[in-house]
Amino acid sequence: MSHPTDGNCIFCKIVAGQIPSFKLIEDEHTIAFMDINPVNPGHALAVAKGHWPTVDAIPPDVLASVARTAQKVAKAAFKELKPHGVNLVQANGPGAGQSVPHLHIHIMPRREGDAVSLNWEPKPGDMKEIGDMAARLKAALP
Ligand code: AMP
Ligand code: ZN
Repeated sequence: MSHPTDGNCIFCKIVAGQIPSFKLIEDEHTIAFMDINPVNPGHALAVAKGHWPTVDAIPPDVLASVARTAQKVAKAAFKELKPHGVNLVQANGPGAGQSVPHLHIHIMPRREGDAVSLNWEPKPGDMKEIGDMAARLKAALP
């Protein structure tokens, strides 16, 4: 099956085998390989084979396939690396810290005290604003 591709995209080049990767697993719609700038040992990426930049652009079935692949890699990380936890992280757009505009889920093994800055302290929100946001989002749901 053919996928949309972007000739300038680093992940499309990995999918096409034009540049090397430490590949973990591959199926019809997805591939998983190691991140070469790991936040912790074992940091990997589950990637759609097709070039869709963000969560709002990718077909839902392909997104589900990427999630299934991320789950397999997370299971391997839990089993083999015995981390204190695993984060699945998926960025959309530069404002969210996305540096490669080709949809992917990070699988990040975590260790207590590893100082990876993903976590925050919950602070109570303004109920009026939360309600307003809920109304706007509900009205915009596909
Ligand atoms: P993001 O910032 O969420 O778009 O994540 C992109 C990730 O891709 C970063 O963590 C990079 O370290 C990683 N990355 C970039 N180029 C490569 C590559 N050639 N092979 C593996 N990982 C890469
Ligand atoms: Zn791409």
